[in-house]
Amino acid sequence: MLRIAVVGSGPSGVYAAQTLVQQREVPGVRVDVLDRLPAPYGLVRYGVAPDHEKIKSLQGSLRAVLEDERIRFLGNVEVGGEALPSARLLELYHAVVYCVGAARDRLLGIPGEDLAGVHSATDFVAWYSGHPDAAAAAFDLAGVGSAVVVGAGNVAVDVTRILARGAAELAPTDMPQPALGALAESGVRAVAMVARRGPSQAKFTTKELRELGTLPGVDARVEPAELALDPAYADPGAAAALPAVARRNVEALRGWAEGGATGAPRAITLRFYLRPSEVLGGPDGRVTGVRFERTAPDGLGGVTGTGTYEDVPAQLVLRSVGYRGVPLAGLPFDPVRGTVPHAAGRVLRAGRASVGEYVAGWIKRGPTGVIGTNRPCAKETASSLLQDAGRLARRELPGDPVDAMRAAGLRPVEWPGWLAVEAAEAELGRSLGRRSVKIPDWDGLLDAAGRT
Ligand code: NAP
Repeated sequence: MLRIAVVGSGPSGVYAAQTLVQQREVPGVRVDVLDRLPAPYGLVRYGVAPDHEKIKSLQGSLRAVLEDERIRFLGNVEVGGEALPSARLLELYHAVVYCVGAARDRLLGIPGEDLAGVHSATDFVAWYSGHPDAAAAAFDLAGVGSAVVVGAGNVAVDVTRILARGAAELAPTDMPQPALGALAESGVRAVAMVARRGPSQAKFTTKELRELGTLPGVDARVEPAELALDPAYADPGAAAALPAVARRNVEALRGWAEGGATGAPRAITLRFYLRPSEVLGGPDGRVTGVRFERTAPDGLGGVTGTGTYEDVPAQLVLRSVGYRGVPLAGLPFDPVRGTVPHAAGRVLRAGRASVGEYVAGWIKRGPTGVIGTNRPCAKETASSLLQDAGRLARRELPGDPVDAMRAAGLRPVEWPGWLAVEAAEAELGRSLGRRSVKIPDWDGLLDAAGRT
């Protein structure tokens, strides 16, 4: 038997586990999927926006994998800490596949970034998604009239949409009650989503962009003069030569430019060719706006500064400029790429493949791509591991790793514990007159998991 630990129960971890047990070359593979949280599914549970129910429903297929009899879910198990260092994990299993994602946000590196009212989109997403680490965060939106979102990727679109949507529209989702309450009190009337490059270079996908233009009670605006700065927008011939997503984005934005304001109570404005140079604050230390430098295309896909500036007022600023991986104690890390060095998924230590250690997902390739991108990525890693299986399986293992975890003071939440959390969330929803509602704090989750 080959016993493997997969660390992380998001899409990359679950796809890795699935590939490992479903292949036929190496019989008798058993996989434990470990997660620091008592709940599975990673960013599908804690990152996909609550109003994107179709993507959320992917949880159903991830669940089917985790219920496979050859796979065991072990939540509430932190790897890399004192109780379970990575070296110890490797003693308990023949191989370990790290699928730990990219947990942190990137910084802008400009003055004023630490003012009150400036947050990462990652923290905002974690808060409205009920991530237990964000339980203490309190986004008070009552005093916010205008918000600025810096960045033009799909996360920027998500946070812009959630800020602009009415709480009534979000009530049918599983958003935790405190976040829903804060959104119900929100004073936000204007959200500016600001890109440093042009419309043809935006990172968001067209479906997500179009959705922003169809929110009830929200005007979607662009500044036609800013769109026209983009040569690929101004010249229909150049637009036709763009990659498909960029071309469709440009066409969607053309539609926005042609539509007039409807007088809706809230507005989303997409701004282009503005790069943040300073976050502005008042004497009370709270953010009052962002100073942007106007940029111009450099003809090579980048931009140059023009030396002219524009201040955009805001009482809330969310920077949404991408995720980055964090080092896991005991694993090598490339601080520039924010990933673990690897060759076809085999972890490289000092340039050499380390026996029994693998990576998949964002910690392997960086925070890019959609959920489905993790499938081929996990397959590549699983295939490297299976090629090494003969060598890995020679080692005698101690007994059941769960006993060792318990002896080290960990309290793993197994599948029945997770099912008890699900039941408690359904019950919480019923008590609030809503569908299932997330339990957003550690104590609540562990308490519910204990009711098995
Ligand atoms: P992203 O797609 O990499 O977008 C990052 C954005 O930040 C880009 O517009 C980038 O502009 C901008 N940026 C970076 N540094 C900046 C700076 N210093 N100043 C101003 N702007 C800066 O990252 P993401 O939005 O976090 O998304 C991560 C991944 O998750 C993506 O693959 C995304 O598609 C995926 N995702 C998908 C969905 C969905 O499918 N619905 C939802 C959420 C996330 P430049 O292009 O100029 O660098």
